[in-house]
Amino acid sequence: MGHTLFGHAPEVGEKAPLWSAESNNGAVEIADYLGQGAVLLLFYPADWSEVCREELPLLEELVTLAGKVKLKTFGISHDGLNSHKAFAREIGLRLISLVSDPYREISRAYGVSEANDTTCKRAAFLIDTEGVVRWTRLAVDVSEPYSIQEIEKALEMVREWDGLSNNLENWKRERQQAVQLPRVAPLAPPTHLQLSFWGTRGSIPVSGLNYNRYGGNTSCVSLTSDSGHLFIFDCGSGARELGNFLMSSQWSPPTNAEPATKKVEGYIFLSHTHWDHIQGFPFFSPVFRSPNRFNIIGWSNCSQTLGSILAGQMEYNYFPVSMNDLPSKLSFYSIQHGEVYLDGARVVGRLLKHPTPSTAYRLELAGRTLVYATDHEPHLPPPLITNTLLGDDVINAHLVEMASGADLLIHDAQYSGIELAEKVGWGHSSVEVAVDTAIRAGVKRLVLYHHDPSHNDDDIDALLATALHRASVLKNDTLQILAAYDGLKLEL
Ligand SMILES: [Zn+2]
Ligand SMILES: [Zn+2]
Repeated sequence: MGHTLFGHAPEVGEKAPLWSAESNNGAVEIADYLGQGAVLLLFYPADWSEVCREELPLLEELVTLAGKVKLKTFGISHDGLNSHKAFAREIGLRLISLVSDPYREISRAYGVSEANDTTCKRAAFLIDTEGVVRWTRLAVDVSEPYSIQEIEKALEMVREWDGLSNNLENWKRERQQAVQLPRVAPLAPPTHLQLSFWGTRGSIPVSGLNYNRYGGNTSCVSLTSDSGHLFIFDCGSGARELGNFLMSSQWSPPTNAEPATKKVEGYIFLSHTHWDHIQGFPFFSPVFRSPNRFNIIGWSNCSQTLGSILAGQMEYNYFPVSMNDLPSKLSFYSIQHGEVYLDGARVVGRLLKHPTPSTAYRLELAGRTLVYATDHEPHLPPPLITNTLLGDDVINAHLVEMASGADLLIHDAQYSGIELAEKVGWGHSSVEVAVDTAIRAGVKRLVLYHHDPSHNDDDIDALLATALHRASVLKNDTLQILAAYDGLKLEL
């Protein structure tokens, strides 16, 4: 056999090399698993890389939703055990065990790394109960993630071996790229785009005299147009006010002829499903009316679909009306990769670093660009004193790229620099991180968002002053910065 890029990777029909190693869930003797069921080995280049961060939770979700198949899945890289443990915890892995292969014994046996390679190639092997390789996938380009369709194919194979029918249907449907709402006629290109902030607080709603000026509702922002567009970002407690507005005579989409038969139709983009981003949904009145219709777009976590997570907070023990009983039409979609056009708007999404990954959205419509990027933390907390722009060691370069040239960036600004240093792993940013990201991306307006519930109005004033100071230290006099408050309205 010739020496290829992948050395001597076992081919379909050949016996899989046996190995034993340590994983984040304990010692693994691969032979012990093979008798019991199929084994899927996923070699990946390194913990913490952007592609692996996005891909492993997605693969775990796929494995989970494949149902009760007899399958054990291992992720394998050259990283050490401590790295694997921290990484698995951060991305919330439960089913996939991460195997540590620091001496490259396993990856060499499978031909996915050479003796001196620091990282292994991206490659997948499906092994049946007899220990025979039945399916492989070798990526020539390391930065190219596994194709979900291909992994799905492998899982369908295992389901067949187990005599199960292939019913990944719910999951597959929700995994589909978001689609446009059915419209009688396409919405006309808008001339005005209005951004409204209904909830700007993070973590938990607050109320009282200390929060008079900025307000206390949790995350909810809407983008509406004079030609009937409706895009909603997150459904925190602010969604109650938004719902009341949409059901009132103040909102009259031009596509509806009669106010009496008014339909409220739009898209709800969820950054993630932490409670402060979904808790307003059961109080969002348009979902209680039958002609109304929403396409809900987001990221399911490792073990559940987005629809089932939203339904979970409406179980009878928590709320009297179940999601199944809502008269409106709700459809769920995904938007992780690529771009999609919804009512003429181009939308792209990207995962950010947060205890459950959070999705940032870039929306372009009528020549204007909005980026919504809440609930995420930088790679590292920045130094407390610095007079230069934060680099890629701190700032997420992918977010900078995503926000490039935006008219307006809504960015997590929950903490001061000192608070961020004390809250590593909590999944939020400081005002400095927000300002530096905005300047590096060349955005025109930055809106500080997701205020900490422990911050009163004066604290948020102080954070805004810190942000303005940061921009002047960096000698930037073009970026406009404001702190979001409940009721803020801006023309995009
Ligand atoms: Zn949040
Ligand atoms: Zn969160």
